[in-house]
Amino acid sequence: MDFLEAANEIGFSHIVEFDPKILEARDAVRAMCAEDRCRVYGKNWSCPPNCGTVEECQAKMSSYNKGILLQTTGNLKSVIDVLGYKNVGDKHNELVYKLFDNLKSQGAEFLLLGAGGCRRCKKCAYPEPCRMPGKSVSSMEGYGLLVSQVCKDAGAEYTYGDKTITYSACLLYNE
Ligand code: SF4
Repeated sequence: MDFLEAANEIGFSHIVEFDPKILEARDAVRAMCAEDRCRVYGKNWSCPPNCGTVEECQAKMSSYNKGILLQTTGNLKSVIDVLGYKNVGDKHNELVYKLFDNLKSQGAEFLLLGAGGCRRCKKCAYPEPCRMPGKSVSSMEGYGLLVSQVCKDAGAEYTYGDKTITYSACLLYNE
């Protein structure tokens, strides 16, 4: 399985390989999740606290030896453009799920972390069972990652200029 080639075929704006050793699950990021600004804390199977403890997330990430940072960048109409944020975020999720499904259909083993928790369903089934077991996608933040630091440590930009927005994801696998 050529994960880099699979990622390149999807259409992300930027792709950077990195060593998963840079990934650090932080209590401080989980504490930000607990503030529930996104209003899905404890209401989505893929988000904290349901996605596992900080230690469990760290252990999962540490079990992989290859990483690819995947970013979707889009233009905004103005510096603050709520609709623009949403449109680019939706596009990013679409690409992340496409990559996930392509890899799964080939029987690949991997961990893919997106942005903002699983949005495969309009409203997560939680606390009822997940509607798509095995296809839920947690977020980098949910795993305690400080996305700006991951980008920096991976040698990527976190933002790509004024009037743009960038969403990040990471693909972890073993080679
Ligand atoms: S697939 Fe649907 S039910 Fe399952 S975690 Fe994602 S949003 Fe929730």
